[in-house]
Amino acid sequence: MGRPTYQVTELLGDGIGTELSRAIHTLAEALPIRLDFIPVDLALENRRARGQAVYDEVAEAITATRVALKHPTITAEESPNAVLRRRLDLSVIHRPVYTIPGVPTNFRRELDLDIVRVATGGTYDDPGRMIGEDAAVSLRIVERRPVCEATRYAFALARRTGKHVTSASKYTIQRGTDGLFESVVQEVSRQYPEVSHRTELFDALLGKIIMAPERFQIVLVLNEYGDFLSDMACGLAGSLGIGASANLGFDAASVVRVALFDAAHGTAPDIAGKDLANPTAIFLALAMLLSQIGEIDAGHTVKTATLDLLRQGVRTRDLGGEESTETFTAAVAAEVSRRLAPRPQPATR
Ligand code: ATP
Repeated sequence: MGRPTYQVTELLGDGIGTELSRAIHTLAEALPIRLDFIPVDLALENRRARGQAVYDEVAEAITATRVALKHPTITAEESPNAVLRRRLDLSVIHRPVYTIPGVPTNFRRELDLDIVRVATGGTYDDPGRMIGEDAAVSLRIVERRPVCEATRYAFALARRTGKHVTSASKYTIQRGTDGLFESVVQEVSRQYPEVSHRTELFDALLGKIIMAPERFQIVLVLNEYGDFLSDMACGLAGSLGIGASANLGFDAASVVRVALFDAAHGTAPDIAGKDLANPTAIFLALAMLLSQIGEIDAGHTVKTATLDLLRQGVRTRDLGGEESTETFTAAVAAEVSRRLAPRPQPATR
């Protein structure tokens, strides 16, 4: 029987993107499934040469494959991430943040959060304007649709993983905007009676995560709160550049329509082409992609094999190790292949 095959759009980028793409292909070969990568070149040179046509090609490819892996890209005339967010209507970001073995951190506790963030609106759609000389005002927008999408995604994730959800906002003060957010969350949560859910004030949540991180699992928040919380959590985990995220777009029934996975770090031009890039973040992005397409076991194995090797000291130079991109990738691929190999059947008489 052939291996199950999935098509994945791969958005090629700048800087270390080429090495990361090679690493991903090596790792994909170690999986018991087949990933058919459809490449689209998002490198700056190609974007400059082809303009909007590149984004048309990306939109067409992702609409067909429904999942995409994106390598880091240079922001020059435009931010490809911002363009893609608008073009594909990516309204929710899922950013897991957890302590990664081997990554130095000032924080001594274990952290394991899934931040689910409404990625549109809030104060970020309006740069604000002056009123006279000494005051300025901006509009803060909260809309039912993306909140509903983020809530369904967070609760479905909780149902799948057995985790609980905390929603956080400033609903006691921002009664209109954050009040709408919490009321949509309450409404949607009634469709998931088996999922445990509680509400926190956002400022209290920040303190509590630092004091007792083990009390939080999935955290559901509006745009700017998610932005602040992600960086704080990454700072605590010491892993600003090592995580990955899912950028999600939904259909009319709030079911995931397209999902684009990427690494948190940039293009690292200083080490590009030197076989020094750490592929951990893009491997964690691939792990999320595999879970999204229903290959839960493969996704879990890619994540745990990568983290276990880091724990054992198999690390690239940025983490104080000796491995190159290629040798680290080969080690992860071998471990993934070993863990996912079919077990020998006991002999039957
Ligand atoms: P960009 O402008 O694309 O954001 P940047 O270099 O300003 O690029 P990062 O790419 O995040 O920002 O890099 C910050 C530092 O971290 C650089 O010194 C870079 O070499 C290092 N770095 C980033 N990603 C990696 C990686 N995957 N492996 C090893 N080092 C990395």
